[in-house]
Amino acid sequence: MQVQLERVLEQVLARNPGEREFHQAVTEVFESLGPVLERNPQYVDAAVLERLCEPERQIIFRVPWVDDAGQVRINRGFRVEFNSALGPFKGGLRFHPSVYLGIVKFLGFEQVFKNSLTGMPIGGAKGGSDFDPRGRSAGEVMRFCQSFMTELYRHIGEYTDVPAGDIGVGGREIGWLFGQYKRITNRYESGVITGKGVTWGGSLVRTEATGYGTVLFAERMLATRGLGLDGMRVVVSGSGNVAIHAIEKAQALGGHVVACSDSLGYVVDEAGIDLEVLRQVRDVERLPVEQYAARRSGAHYVPSARVWQVDAQVALPCATQNELDETDVKRLVESGLLAVAEGANMPTTPEAVALLQSAGVLYAPGKAANAGGVATSALEMQQNASRDAWSFEHTEERLAGIMARIHDSCAETAEEYGDPGNYVLGANIAGFTKVADAMLALGVV
Ligand code: GLU
Repeated sequence: MQVQLERVLEQVLARNPGEREFHQAVTEVFESLGPVLERNPQYVDAAVLERLCEPERQIIFRVPWVDDAGQVRINRGFRVEFNSALGPFKGGLRFHPSVYLGIVKFLGFEQVFKNSLTGMPIGGAKGGSDFDPRGRSAGEVMRFCQSFMTELYRHIGEYTDVPAGDIGVGGREIGWLFGQYKRITNRYESGVITGKGVTWGGSLVRTEATGYGTVLFAERMLATRGLGLDGMRVVVSGSGNVAIHAIEKAQALGGHVVACSDSLGYVVDEAGIDLEVLRQVRDVERLPVEQYAARRSGAHYVPSARVWQVDAQVALPCATQNELDETDVKRLVESGLLAVAEGANMPTTPEAVALLQSAGVLYAPGKAANAGGVATSALEMQQNASRDAWSFEHTEERLAGIMARIHDSCAETAEEYGDPGNYVLGANIAGFTKVADAMLALGVV
């Protein structure tokens, strides 16, 4: 790594102690930026790197709520508004017990580059809480969402910061969050949050977009080697919204999806995952994925193990950060892995990424491959601003166009910088350059 980059990285690590995932995300981006700084000394002169690593604003707040037994509970809420050079802060909210400042900052930092890659006018942010929705009644989750928004509302707005969902925050929670925002502010400000229901300002395809987009990216990446998903053996991790729609699109393109998972274990179904059963179990009944195996003859469940034990030609990590490690990759490469496209944020550890690249496996980092979700959020904002509602076909076409452009800009940038096929390099440089140029244009702010 260049001395300039090393110096800034050292500062970032020292100023943000204990934030392991944030350190990981920054290091990964910095490893790509050497050649850009050589060609563009103006970025160094204007301290663009230092500014990029310091969020514009970080909000941490108490979230008090009352559980069904009448007990008062306290969680911690976060919103890290990372960078607004390209547009209003934009990024999801995550409700999961693992959430702390280091997770929110890694996600917010990634979001800046991801949102830049979409080509849409959106800055980067992330938020959430260490609240664990698992085992909580609908009433408890609603009261939590209302309390969370009772503080958050003063920090967000159509032109300021536009949250959305992430792990633990789906359409149901977005409804409760928006309902409380509307009540407090007395404004039907549709553009303040995305991932809304389609009858009250949401966009068609937003629910499907992250999973669909990841698979569209994988298909285009495979095409660079004259391959396609048709007939490929596919393994997906997770079984939430991103995973379900990745499975749906992979199957539509002829992929044979044989396994998926949750945090407790994984299921294998050699006949191909039955989406209807999976949806019923995970989405409708909100049960562990184990129930899928109980309801499908021929499928089996493996508890307390990672889905990467199952052979795959195409792997789609759609669960969470650092879920695919070196040991997994070694095994998968030996059994014929051809491509990895990340539906989750930073699911592959740095050692595993290095191994994938040295083995010549096609590898698409999340900030490029899963950008379809937030890109469709930006399409939702467009529809809200013009009080319009587009058809499914039109919106999906827009998503497909955006994914193709992101793929091609990563591929072209990698080539321009002398490392064709390196999507990590391409995504980091293409994402960075656009934000950095906007920051230069806006002055020292
Ligand atoms: N949480 C999603 C992501 O990781 C979506 C964010 C959004 O739609 O604003 O990109």
